[in-house]
Amino acid sequence: MIVLKFGGTSVQNAEMIDKALDIATSHLERAPVLVSSAMARVTDGLVEITKAATAGNEERAREILAQQRAHHFAVAEESLSGPRLERARVRLDHCFAELSSLVKGLSLLRECTPRSSDAILSFGEILSTTLVALRAEERGIETELLDARDFVRTDDHFTSALPLFEPTNRLAREQVKPKPGKLIVTQGFIGRTESGATSTLGRGGSDYSATIIGAALGAEEVQIWTDVNGIMTSDPRVVRDARTIDRISYNEAAELAYFGAKVVHPSTIQPAVETGIPVLVMNTGDPSGPGTAIVERADGKGLRAIAGKKGITLIHVASTRMLNAYGFLSRIFATFEKHRTPVDLIATSEVSVSMTIDNSQSLSTIVRELQEIGRVGVEEELAIICLVGQDLWKEPAFIARVFGALKDTPIRMVSLGSSDINLSLVVPGKMLNTAIQILHGEFF
Ligand code: ADP
Ligand code: ASP
Ligand code: MG
Repeated sequence: MIVLKFGGTSVQNAEMIDKALDIATSHLERAPVLVSSAMARVTDGLVEITKAATAGNEERAREILAQQRAHHFAVAEESLSGPRLERARVRLDHCFAELSSLVKGLSLLRECTPRSSDAILSFGEILSTTLVALRAEERGIETELLDARDFVRTDDHFTSALPLFEPTNRLAREQVKPKPGKLIVTQGFIGRTESGATSTLGRGGSDYSATIIGAALGAEEVQIWTDVNGIMTSDPRVVRDARTIDRISYNEAAELAYFGAKVVHPSTIQPAVETGIPVLVMNTGDPSGPGTAIVERADGKGLRAIAGKKGITLIHVASTRMLNAYGFLSRIFATFEKHRTPVDLIATSEVSVSMTIDNSQSLSTIVRELQEIGRVGVEEELAIICLVGQDLWKEPAFIARVFGALKDTPIRMVSLGSSDINLSLVVPGKMLNTAIQILHGEFF
């Protein structure tokens, strides 16, 4: 069997849903499971609805809800007819009625727990898959719509829940029965906790759902269909002449995803690595165009791609007590662990440590606790540039070229050598795109 994952733009309207289904039909004999995201901008809209309702602006929340309702109904009317259109109307009505009462609840309580947020955000995928599955039936494809919450089990860290692989693998094998000639449709992004609450895997998490499901069912391949020609040498929105990378290793793709290449969610690679399943990234709007194969080993040395991530905070902790002392770093990291805040890059000197984080939710508490250990400095609105490629450090001239090209960019921190494949630089957030363009021009 194979898994075909379609992102938001790939199912954003009736025309794109048909393109996605053309692709699925061409793989029908390979027993496909189609994993769909919410239609483009719908999850963003649901986030805004949640915020508006919680802030007491119920009117704004209802306005966005009405727009979303109109869009989903318009797509249903354009792509369905007769009893199938009727079924779509009933299901959409049901979803929007539920959303409406959730909005009422939030605006009364003026509070949104992570759990309620997930309950609301899950509707994006429920709505899109309803339309995709009914359209597939309308086209005469044997179709089965499954609720991913029935087999994707997660922990209860709502808004970024982690999959529980043991029950997920078991339930998926019991419930998802792909066969040649049949199309199974299910949702990305969403799951359910052991106590039965709806959870989500974090923004962009549908890619992760695809490999979780692919790994559980022993897929021969996972295909991620999106709005660009695969993984490119840089984000094509930033660098106009970015090129498609034909083949890239799991490790390289994971570093790129982690450091900002949003074309695949950072956790996507892990289930594929563990089961050795190849992941292809392709463009729904250009199915015969170039794409990327993410595989165990990809030949070729040197720079592959440049990614960038904004919203980075740099934290320095300095203390003369650090001189020749042990246990200092572990105390610092215990603070981050306690507040579930991952540290990305680290640099140390004799008496100080600098670290970057991209989740500054608990920043003020972390800083307060670190002040008990030493003097603390914080710099915000920075960015990480991540250059990825095999054995980058083996060529001294490469490093010289990077710094030469960025001679006018203040570099706040450098990390090289923790893996063979990543050189990371911290620069002011405002300079990120220009710095990436300069580096891309230098090397590609
Ligand atoms: P989907 O909705 O299909 O999941 P996303 O918007 O999440 O799509 O991811 C696709 C986007 O990722 C592209 O439109 C592109 O702007 C961005 N992107 C960032 N870095 C890269 C890269 N190195 N290669 C390709 N796309 C990239
Ligand atoms: N719809 C979700 C989001 O926008 C998940 C995804 O598209 O991957 O974050
Ligand atoms: Mg995505």
